[in-house]
Amino acid sequence: MNRRSFAQSVGSAVALSALTKPSVWAESPSKETPGRILAIAAHPGDGLFTMVALLAQQIERGGTGALLSLSLGEKGAPKDIPVHQYGEMQRTATQKATHLLGAEAIFLRYPDAEIPFNEESALAVCDTIREHQPDVVVTHWSGSWHKDHQSCHLIVRDAVFYAGLETLTRGRPAHSVSKVYYAENWEDASNFVPDTYLDIEAVYEKWLQACDFYPMWRGQTGFFRYNDYYSALSIMRGCLSGSKHAVALMSDPSLRMDRPRWF
Ligand SMILES: [Zn+2]
Repeated sequence: MNRRSFAQSVGSAVALSALTKPSVWAESPSKETPGRILAIAAHPGDGLFTMVALLAQQIERGGTGALLSLSLGEKGAPKDIPVHQYGEMQRTATQKATHLLGAEAIFLRYPDAEIPFNEESALAVCDTIREHQPDVVVTHWSGSWHKDHQSCHLIVRDAVFYAGLETLTRGRPAHSVSKVYYAENWEDASNFVPDTYLDIEAVYEKWLQACDFYPMWRGQTGFFRYNDYYSALSIMRGCLSGSKHAVALMSDPSLRMDRPRWF
């Protein structure tokens, strides 16, 4: 089994957005709206700030969404809060935020800053994919300075492959994911080239409320102004895609393939 098999393992593996022709999900919702989305983030904040708006949008339209956090992001604790306590605060914030949006929160307990990319972690995520049977998986892009984000990207690629492998016996039967997208994250910006834009106007205010459960969102745990950055980003992406607020996603480069029968 090699990593080139990733493209073959993704259900459709074809007809995703071409680089030169950005697609907008909202234009043809009856065809383009997937029913189930699984977001997989290294840390809960990444999930809420970069992935959950599109979960909320799909839930609003009758789909389902779940956020899997590989760690609690506990080592981002400010000096006056013990690491363990901060992890539990992150867990509680994530549960409140996903509950508000109608999504499910799932956690794996890998230590923050030490998320391992190995067979065990890939199989653990594979099992989550088989359990939740998502049509779409959204996760980190590889062009990140953060080692946990890089590991998460690699784990998810192998997990999607393993999940669809009929001959790999696990507790649940194989499940092929139809599409994999990468979320726009300020920490994963190297060579991030968005090709899919999703109108999130219907859930924008609710998504902001969900993000506000996190002290980090309001800049209370560090220097970065997450609220300003991601709310402004949604406006900018909306400008580019003809809506008020939008999120931009990137298809896996190996899946950017159209197979037209004619032009
Ligand atoms: Zn992170």
